[in-house]
Amino acid sequence: MTAVEFTDVNKWYDNGLHALRDINLSVNTGETVVICGPSGSGKSTLIRTVNALEPIDTGQIAIAGTPVQMMDRRSLRRRVGMVFQSFNLFTHFKVLDNLTLAAEHVAGLDQAAAEARAMQLLDRVGLADQAQKYPGQLSGGQQQRVAIARTLMLDPDVLLFDEPTSALDPEMIAEVLSLMEDLAREGRTMLCVTHEMGFARNVADQIVFMAHGSVIEKAPPAAFFDNP
Ligand code: ADP
Ligand code: ADP
Repeated sequence: MTAVEFTDVNKWYDNGLHALRDINLSVNTGETVVICGPSGSGKSTLIRTVNALEPIDTGQIAIAGTPVQMMDRRSLRRRVGMVFQSFNLFTHFKVLDNLTLAAEHVAGLDQAAAEARAMQLLDRVGLADQAQKYPGQLSGGQQQRVAIARTLMLDPDVLLFDEPTSALDPEMIAEVLSLMEDLAREGRTMLCVTHEMGFARNVADQIVFMAHGSVIEKAPPAAFFDNP
């Protein structure tokens, strides 16, 4: 089944820049798609349109058959989770509360249920013992794992990653990539903008190459990396 479908999508920024040009792209359920291409080619814009952080001007984006433009903000948040380069955690809330807030507000879970689920997910990302700390007391790699756990709170259909390791020190990149790899292997549908070519080669089902706002190529990793 098609998890995300772009049909004839175009986007212009207010300054006239044509950021997305005639995008037609299908992502199947359970696929991990890595989006690569030069800086400024539209990768971030592309994934930000999937959860309507960026509006589009023509065409349609559908999540499991439902156009994004027809979904209210709340259902979109439930169905599409996003992980940012800069973590976007609430620094004045404890780690545990960063997870429960979204679930209570967006999904209407009661506090006890939200905390139980949050602890389960923190355990899963290896951070149960950090639940009562503030994000600033954690390393960058740990903060990004918290951010990933937070997106899993609502069990979204699609996970978006916008350069999730670009702000991390080298020694912390591996722990985040390994968590992303686990998610891919368990059959999550993921769209990832990343420069980590090892991840693209080993984990991606498809690699999308963008240039000047267009999708130039979409193919499995074997087509991009000749050497076995
Ligand atoms: P990438 O993620 O591949 O680096 P982006 O999607 O961030 O590319 O940007 C695509 C193009 O759109 C770039 O030329 C960038 O400068 C431009 N751009 C991004 N955001 C805006 C904006 N808010 N207003 C105008 N231009 C933008
Ligand atoms: P990131 O690397 O985290 O995407 P950027 O520096 O590309 O950060 O963009 C920071 C913010 O500025 C984003 O909200 C982006 O949409 C916006 N932006 C990026 N390029 C432009 C541009 N050429 N004109 C106006 N805004 C832009």
